[in-house]
Amino acid sequence: MADGSRHIDMIQIAPMPAPRSRLARLGDWLAAHHVGIRRMQWAVIVSYAFLVAVPAFLPPPADDTHLWNNLTRAAQFLFWGLWWPGVMVATVTLGRTWCGLFCPEGSLTEWASRHGRGGAIPRWMRWSGWPLVAFLGTTVYGQLVSVYEYPQAALLVLGGSTLAALAVGYFYGKGKRVWCRHLCPANGVFALLAKIAPMHYRVDMAAWDAAPRHTKAVDCAPLINIRQMQSASSCHSCGRCSGHRDAVRWSWRTPWAELLDPSVKASNVEVATLLFGVLGVATAAFQWSSSPWFVQAKLAIASWLLDRGHDGLLQNNAPWWLLTHVPAANDVFTWLDGGLIIAYLLGGGALIGVALALIVLAAHRLAGGRTRLGFNRLALTLVPLGAASIILGLSMLTIAQLKAEQVPLGWLAAPRIALFLAGAVFSLALAWRLLPPVTLARRIAASIVYAAAPTLIGAIWYLVFFVW
Ligand code: SF4
Repeated sequence: MADGSRHIDMIQIAPMPAPRSRLARLGDWLAAHHVGIRRMQWAVIVSYAFLVAVPAFLPPPADDTHLWNNLTRAAQFLFWGLWWPGVMVATVTLGRTWCGLFCPEGSLTEWASRHGRGGAIPRWMRWSGWPLVAFLGTTVYGQLVSVYEYPQAALLVLGGSTLAALAVGYFYGKGKRVWCRHLCPANGVFALLAKIAPMHYRVDMAAWDAAPRHTKAVDCAPLINIRQMQSASSCHSCGRCSGHRDAVRWSWRTPWAELLDPSVKASNVEVATLLFGVLGVATAAFQWSSSPWFVQAKLAIASWLLDRGHDGLLQNNAPWWLLTHVPAANDVFTWLDGGLIIAYLLGGGALIGVALALIVLAAHRLAGGRTRLGFNRLALTLVPLGAASIILGLSMLTIAQLKAEQVPLGWLAAPRIALFLAGAVFSLALAWRLLPPVTLARRIAASIVYAAAPTLIGAIWYLVFFVW
């Protein structure tokens, strides 16, 4: 009898294995099928290479062609109308699954690294500001050569980036994604957007430490210290670590969990990328071509130059790979155009970034800036606003292409307003949660000041969509 009761006690106190959610099982499935995933990645690479390279060698599409009967138009729609905005939406909703499972540059750089020289990552490459510099550079350069309009420019920008990814993979790392981690121009933006994804790879540190020491290490391509991973920013959501040491699970979380978690670092580079990159230069890049301010400045400077007999800047003899030069489409940039585009994007982006920084700083001070709440943490509450803004901007390309195909889009204003408001209200709610309740009056005053940030971005989009 005594033995039997002890047996029953043992059964009662034995820990029950936690049931795995469907998402966790999907993560485990990804981990178990990496060979099939690699094959799928090669299919993506071949399709990507075809769509980037072939249109650049075809004649320009005739006026009566459509995206369903002309490869150049189809490729433009796939790249800029679906892929680019789709990747942003996917990162906000699924985390960086695009990077880990589909991105052709990520797959290629990892493949090159597996067969390359395996060099150590140089010190200069580890500088955390490179993704921001690369993002600003490609955004500005893309506008100078009209990357969204012409396949030769797309081949130059996308193909150049892919070649750089291959070269970095060949020289550095052993089967790793050094390019993605340190240099990819989209890395900073994806890292921000992934912060509000409702799913992430959650690490149970206690379970990790309790697992046998000799467990085989995970091949984490972006070189993450998985045991200490708290943020979804760097994780490519490839699934390879799912189930590792019985401690890593693809899990649901609230979209605000990471931004409200005081243990997750909020770095200067992340804040700069958000304020000056995503909300600054990218917003300016989406609106310069429809801006009457740009046209007025150009006319004023051109007449000032002509009055003084200086017409060098009004020449349009720059090569196509430096400034847009497509005479057949009556689309030729002068040196003045190029200079003004650079000034508008970088100057406008800096103005927006500084204004946002001052607004956040004022709200932070008003709330009692010496509290535990740091400026960076408060600034990162603008991530949802940044996500809405960049999706609005990129979807302008989708809309332009659908309009050219006579698709009726009279209903568009409502979803655009709804998307912007969703981002703005999400940011405001995050800020309200983070602002310390020193006194209710201060918290309300700080929130009102903070609201100037979404108001500023909203005013810019209002001009673009409803005034210009
Ligand atoms: S931590 Fe590394 S291995 Fe795990 S899902 Fe993220 S990128 Fe993949």
